[in-house]
Amino acid sequence: ARAAGRNQWVWYSNEMASHLQSKREMVQAIEVALGSEAFSLHYQPRYQLQNGQLAGAEALIRWQVAEDKWISPDRFIPLAEENGLINAISDWVLMRACTDARDWGDQRYVSVNISPVEFRGSDLVQRVARALEASGLPATRLELEITENITFEHPDRALEIMQGLRALGVRLTVDDFGTGYAALGYLKTFPFNGLKIDRSWMKEFPESPQAQSVVAGIVGLARAFALTITAEGIETEAQLNELKVLSCEEGQGYFLGRPMPLAAFRALLNQQDV
Ligand code: C2E
Ligand code: CA
Ligand code: CA
Ligand code: CA
Repeated sequence: ARAAGRNQWVWYSNEMASHLQSKREMVQAIEVALGSEAFSLHYQPRYQLQNGQLAGAEALIRWQVAEDKWISPDRFIPLAEENGLINAISDWVLMRACTDARDWGDQRYVSVNISPVEFRGSDLVQRVARALEASGLPATRLELEITENITFEHPDRALEIMQGLRALGVRLTVDDFGTGYAALGYLKTFPFNGLKIDRSWMKEFPESPQAQSVVAGIVGLARAFALTITAEGIETEAQLNELKVLSCEEGQGYFLGRPMPLAAFRALLNQQDV
């Protein structure tokens, strides 16, 4: 399928299972998937770049529709956002991720993606609190990643919710920084703890002087706002080394580790801890 604009999809992809050809069928399939074992989480390691320590992992949802067929979250998350199913998906992800992360070590966190539309409703703080309570994960070990455009519709509402989440002890990170419309004011107004440089900026980094300047600029910006900075999409050793030189704090990407099932991530934790 080709993405014809952010919220519009062409529905006749051969990548898609043939029984999921209409939007409505896909929405129904999501509902069924929520009640079955069709969703799972993969974890992608995040490292502290200066000392190589495993800092935690980002939880990434996976949807298996046939033995050898997965639907990308880039496809079904936007649809779930349009159809009011995103809260149910996030509740499942939060519960699973918080439970899985309990024994990762006192200093390690799990990071969960939350959709901007969830900042419209009123109950995100309670939903997160419930997942923490039910799982027993300390709030300080949960991070929420939020893309830049959360402020579009109801900035006051979004601010209130973010303050509520911070009051719980949860960390908040701007995801995909450098792709949307977020400007300096955004970093000043909203109580973020961290910022993730979008991986599109990594593509020509470090070869292109322009990409160099942009990444260095974002790192400097993050520092000015006392935000922890994470680079995503690190695919080469050259990128890793240059990010260290720029004093970027955390990193994530195929060069450091791909998203993996929980068992594989646990094996990685065991290696680090011996
Ligand atoms: P994202 O939050 O920006 O997540 C990072 C995406 O980049 C993931 O794709 C990951 O597999 C991929 N990635 C990681 N390292 C590299 C790298 O070195 N090179 C390249 N080219 N890609 C890399 P994925 O898992 O397909 O997820 C796509 C998007 O779907 C995510 O982008 C996020 O916006 C959304 N998503 C995934 N899981 C969830 C979820 O549980 N809830 C919500 N609301 N959204 C989710
Ligand atoms: Ca993310
Ligand atoms: Ca991202
Ligand atoms: Ca994204």
